[in-house]
Amino acid sequence: MKGLKFAILHHGYIENDFAWNVAVPKPGNIKEKNVLSEWIRVPTFSVLISHPDLGWILYDTGPCLRDEKDRLPLFVREQFPLFTSREEFLDKQLSLVNLTPEDISLIIVSHMHWDHAGGLSFFSNTKASKNILVSEKDYSYGLTVTHHCSTEPFGGGGYFKDNFHFPGLTFNFIEEDQSLAPGIDIITLGGHTPGVLGLVLHLESDTFIFPSDAVNMSRNYGPPMAYPGILYDSIGFQQTVRKLNLLQKTYQAKIIFPHDPVQFSYLEPAPYFYQ
Ligand SMILES: [Zn+2]
Repeated sequence: MKGLKFAILHHGYIENDFAWNVAVPKPGNIKEKNVLSEWIRVPTFSVLISHPDLGWILYDTGPCLRDEKDRLPLFVREQFPLFTSREEFLDKQLSLVNLTPEDISLIIVSHMHWDHAGGLSFFSNTKASKNILVSEKDYSYGLTVTHHCSTEPFGGGGYFKDNFHFPGLTFNFIEEDQSLAPGIDIITLGGHTPGVLGLVLHLESDTFIFPSDAVNMSRNYGPPMAYPGILYDSIGFQQTVRKLNLLQKTYQAKIIFPHDPVQFSYLEPAPYFYQ
């Protein structure tokens, strides 16, 4: 679609064990029984979209301030440490293209994990605060696992209780695939959590698909497909890969993976716009 464009807002890197990204990446064998784990560094980013009718839209928001320091529980900071600078948080990334959170009209949150939803903290009582789209299944599940009768404030699986309590936000639920506006489709994807919202952007030049963490990196997508180590539902993951295969063929689309260090090294970050 003419006039539709997007930019990549880089929020730094998360380090973690490669086995969280690809399950059993190096199985032991009779000759090598104790295989060492591999520690890797993956990018984290959100996507800023400019639409001729809807204005400025965000797909994901990155982490919350202090997630890299003391905000998240210790075991998350030890197993998934975030390395980022103040300049890489969402508000500063928006300023690279002369925007502030007040300029955003609508936010699509792929799922409520901390590295995607934490930046909602910048939107209390802004124009976008009433226009936040999330997966109903993901939101409900995240709310449940972080608010049941445990004293543990972290529900596991990447959800963090405080990220459901930013003041002045209204969430709108998406349950089915739908066209948001000409050139923008929202797709529902299983596997990683009960429901991840993926995005299809039909630019004038090419179609781009953003599956978010439903497919973490190219290695998961394959072929052959490879299960991630963090997985809610294995059948849902298979269905996601098949759905993306079909969309990719239909539109000759490019898939942009959310945490793929190799692919990310070839992406051009903001202020550059793909159009
Ligand atoms: Zn993620």
